[in-house]
Amino acid sequence: MKEIKRRCQFCDEKNEKSINTNIDDYVAIKKGKANVYYHSQCYQIYLMTKKKMSEEESLLEIQRLKAIMEAQMEEIKYRDKLCKLVMDLYDISYLPDSYFIRLTEINNGTYKKIKEPISNMDLYTMYSNQKLIAKLGNIALKKGISKEKRLYWDLAIVLSEYEGYKKWKRNNISKNINIDKIKKEMGKIKQAQQKEIHKKDDEVDITELILWIMDGGFIGKRTFRHREWGFSSRKFL
Ligand SMILES: [Zn+2]
Repeated sequence: MKEIKRRCQFCDEKNEKSINTNIDDYVAIKKGKANVYYHSQCYQIYLMTKKKMSEEESLLEIQRLKAIMEAQMEEIKYRDKLCKLVMDLYDISYLPDSYFIRLTEINNGTYKKIKEPISNMDLYTMYSNQKLIAKLGNIALKKGISKEKRLYWDLAIVLSEYEGYKKWKRNNISKNINIDKIKKEMGKIKQAQQKEIHKKDDEVDITELILWIMDGGFIGKRTFRHREWGFSSRKFL
């Protein structure tokens, strides 16, 4: 992997660059149009001394910055994936510079035909939708659009589908949250059941009590006491 060195704003001299981005733990912070860099440890010292943050606050801030960095790395990966997908779609071996400029405008939200920035990940997901791809093909066929022109023509259609895609994404995310919620609830129930199993012999759960009664349990001499109900079934025996 190519070695990229960066200057730590805290510990490096003017001409020094001691951060190796492949190995070192570092943070990148957007400053104007460029990034400035710090070793994570240096940045923590900076936050605690210059910004008077507590240790916990400084760690949270570094965590926040790293999450942003990770998202940016993901976006770079997705641009690559998107370009490969698009080249496969039109069976072309390269993309013109103007296309990359357009993508950047779309990512930044500066492209005039969109209302907000659209990430490469979202574009990639949309271009992966076979229904949409079929729709693009049909439109191109109907209107007689040549393969060379489809790159931008289709892109305009994909962008016009973004609102619908956003709705779909929102629904999907809320579905995921619900599943997580259910899983959590199930985990709680399981834990409660585990506790129940570990209870003393004379404290059984209601299911066991019902099963026992259904089995004609009154014949036995076992004692039942249910904590929530607050009674001891001893008197019924
Ligand atoms: Zn440093």
